[in-house]
Amino acid sequence: MAKVVHLYWGYMVAAALIVAWSQQWSLPVIVALSLGVSAYAAFQVPVWCGAVNRDGQTYCRNNAYGVLMGCSKRQHRWQKVKMIVLRSKVGNASRSVFPTAKEKFNGALAVAGLLSAVAAVIVPVVTGG
Ligand SMILES: [Zn+2]
Repeated sequence: MAKVVHLYWGYMVAAALIVAWSQQWSLPVIVALSLGVSAYAAFQVPVWCGAVNRDGQTYCRNNAYGVLMGCSKRQHRWQKVKMIVLRSKVGNASRSVFPTAKEKFNGALAVAGLLSAVAAVIVPVVTGG
């Protein structure tokens, strides 16, 4: 049980974030929850590594934590970030880093968390409240 909480706390934070928006909790709380969700998806959620293997054809299927992170192989660590940021020729980022609905969801979660944090900062400026 404790391990499940450790692995999946980000989804609970995401759920809390949805409640926070709908109930109009205070903005610092929303920003904190948003950043938590984003950091969780980027650096902690259990995923496949997804880096391109030496043969250039297959993708690493070792366990990794966070959609931006690779497995314990050193050369895989930064390969995903490079693939996403540079959209490089090394590999097809959407196929390797986000091969399944689960990985796509985690990627979306990271982006949504960031957007939520930005929105929480911008909304009061726009609405004057
Ligand atoms: Zn790997």
